Amino acid sequence: MDTILENVARIRAELAEAGSEWGQVPELIAVSKYVDAERVNRLCSAGLFHIGENHAQEILKKLPELDARFEIDFIGQLQNNKVKHIIDKVSMIQSVDRDTLAREIDRRAQQHGLRMPVLIEVNIGGEAQKGGVTPEEVFSFARTCAAYPGLKLSGVMCVMPNLPDKAELMPLFRRMRTLFEQLRDLAIAGTDIVELSMGMSDDYLYAARAGATHVRIGSAIFGHRMQK
Ligand SMILES: *Cc1c(COP(=O)(O)O)cnc(C)c1O
Repeated sequence: MDTILENVARIRAELAEAGSEWGQVPELIAVSKYVDAERVNRLCSAGLFHIGENHAQEILKKLPELDARFEIDFIGQLQNNKVKHIIDKVSMIQSVDRDTLAREIDRRAQQHGLRMPVLIEVNIGGEAQKGGVTPEEVFSFARTCAAYPGLKLSGVMCVMPNLPDKAELMPLFRRMRTLFEQLRDLAIAGTDIVELSMGMSDDYLYAARAGATHVRIGSAIFGHRMQK
C-alpha cells in the first residue's frame, strides 16, 4: 500500500482513540505545502479532501493540477496584498490576527459575493516571532471580526512553541480549548464557533486529547519536506 495512505489510516485511528473522551474525532487536515499535486491527489483514495496550504503563490501554481474536490484552508501568515489572489480559491482562512487583514478579507469577500469562514490565530506561547493575537485579545478581536459581513468567524487556531518535550504543551492546548469554549459560549451574533484547529505532526495526539476539533498534519503524512 501507498505510504501516504498508510500514514493517513494510522493517524486517523490514533485520532479516534485520542479524541474519544470528547465524543468527537478531530478532523484531519493534510498540510500539503511543498508537496507536488500528484502526491497530494493520492489523498483522494483515502477519502481525504481537506488540505492546508500556507503560501498564496503555491496555491495558484498547484491548483490547476489538484483534484477539484479538495477544500483548501489557508493556514500561514498572510500579507494583506495577497488576499485578493486566494479569496475565491480557499474555503477558509485560519490565520487572521489583525484588523487590517480582517478588513481586507471582508472587502475582497464582498466583491466576490461570499462570506469567508475565518479562524482567529492565537499566539498561545507568547512567542515574539510568531503571528497571532494574545489570549487576552481574543474576545475583543472576535467582536471586530463579527462586525464584518464578509467574514464568518468559525473558531480559533494556534501553532504551538517548539518544545523538545511535547507533553509540556498540554497546559497550552488546554488553555486553547478553554478559549474556544468561552468564545463559543459568548455566542456573538453572526459567529458560529465550531472549530479549534491545533496540533501538528509532532504533537497531534496531545492536541486531540485536549479537545482539538481539527489537526493540521504535514510531514507525518507526506514525509519530511524540503525546507524553503
Ligand atoms: C507546516 C504547518 C503545519 C504542519 O506541520 P507538520 O509538522 O509538517 O505536520 C501545520 N500548521 C501550520 C500553520 C503549518 O505551517
